Amino acid sequence: MIKAVFPGSFDPVTLGHLDIIERAAKITDMIIVLVCENSVKQSLFTLGERAEHLRYLTNHLPNANVDILDGLAAEYARNHGARMIIRSLRCGGDFDYETQVAGAYKKLSPELETVYLSASPEYSYLSSTVVREFIKHGANIDEMVHNYIKIKLIEKQRGSVDHGS
Ligand code: ADP
Repeated sequence: MIKAVFPGSFDPVTLGHLDIIERAAKITDMIIVLVCENSVKQSLFTLGERAEHLRYLTNHLPNANVDILDGLAAEYARNHGARMIIRSLRCGGDFDYETQVAGAYKKLSPELETVYLSASPEYSYLSSTVVREFIKHGANIDEMVHNYIKIKLIEKQRGSVDHGS
């Protein structure tokens, strides 16, 4: 049984992330999408909100689960019997960062293998940061996120405006 973990911030989850999740679900028996805190970026959605979004958007995939990370992804994978970590590469810049991350996973759990799926060309420019920047300035994000996420982003934006006034 091939059990894999796909860790990420997913803040918010984009069509690029969903493309990777769907493709990973086809080549594994079980894929656990693991929502992680990003210590560098300030978060927009809470971990719980992001997990809820992912659960809603992966509901059609019987072998996909969503969980929230409390600790280290490599330890989570080991404790849950997963030998594979899925990550994705969009461009050369991702490669430098991702190989460093994979090295850290190996250090913690030598039996873990990091497997990279290349981003689909139509999403290779796309990141959660781009989505957040676009929505902030009122630009069109229809080709970047599911409509459900677009609504959540608009609600979040309204909420922060109401709180600020
Ligand atoms: P992290 O903060 O851990 O990098 P992200 O949510 O930004 O979390 O990304 C999680 C994973 O999803 C990473 O492997 C990243 O390369 C991949 N990813 C992000 N955006 C896309 C995209 N547009 N297409 C394919 N993969 C993507």
